[in-house]
Amino acid sequence: MESHEKWMQSALQMAEKAYSLGEVPIGAVVVYNDQIIGRGYNQCESLVDPTAHAEIIAITSAANTLKDWRLNACKLYVTKEPCPMCAGALINARVDFLGFGLYDEQEGCCGSLYQICRDPRFKHQLTVKGGILENHCEAIIKEFFVAKRH
Ligand SMILES: [Zn+2]
Repeated sequence: MESHEKWMQSALQMAEKAYSLGEVPIGAVVVYNDQIIGRGYNQCESLVDPTAHAEIIAITSAANTLKDWRLNACKLYVTKEPCPMCAGALINARVDFLGFGLYDEQEGCCGSLYQICRDPRFKHQLTVKGGILENHCEAIIKEFFVAKRH
């Protein structure tokens, strides 16, 4: 298996955790030196916090692991394209690589509506790859909203 897909599988496991807790199933992991050093899943409902996105929680957790807020050589994998807040956090954390699954035409800011992570006006830019295991990442979100309607 290609490593992008391997890490996305781990992000999907985090999304499943969110799903089981009644949260919109989005998961993220931060990888450094071929190891996961931070994990997160969407917790907006349980924490009653609009900033509790999977990416933010994974970034905070990785910074705690490294004891450094600069995540220079780190890669972040997330099941859905980041929103503007999370794209901003990726820049602030100086993450090196962003891999995401599902493109988000409604609020995605890493290729869909905007490309914040590659805007040369910012001091830091990331390498961005979208569409990793996109079908899996989409399936879990679709399933969640279908189940919610019933
Ligand atoms: Zn976000």
